[in-house]
Amino acid sequence: MKIESLPGFSDLAKKLWLAIAPDTRKSWLSNVWCAACGRAGTITNFTGMVKSGDLLLMGKRAECHGDVARKIESQ
Ligand SMILES: [Zn+2]
Repeated sequence: MKIESLPGFSDLAKKLWLAIAPDTRKSWLSNVWCAACGRAGTITNFTGMVKSGDLLLMGKRAECHGDVARKIESQ
């Protein structure tokens, strides 16, 4: 997946996301907690938005298609 193509991101979310180091982004995307399964997995088909200054990723876990979300707090 090409992570620089971000159709589901708001402009601000895209800006914050692309400011993060690619390796860090990759590790976050491959380690998202799924509450339904109680395990971590890879997030896919995700969108991004900014809520209260924090970046929020929402998508499906690749392994089970369960809904997952990941909040990335801005420093
Ligand atoms: Zn799951």
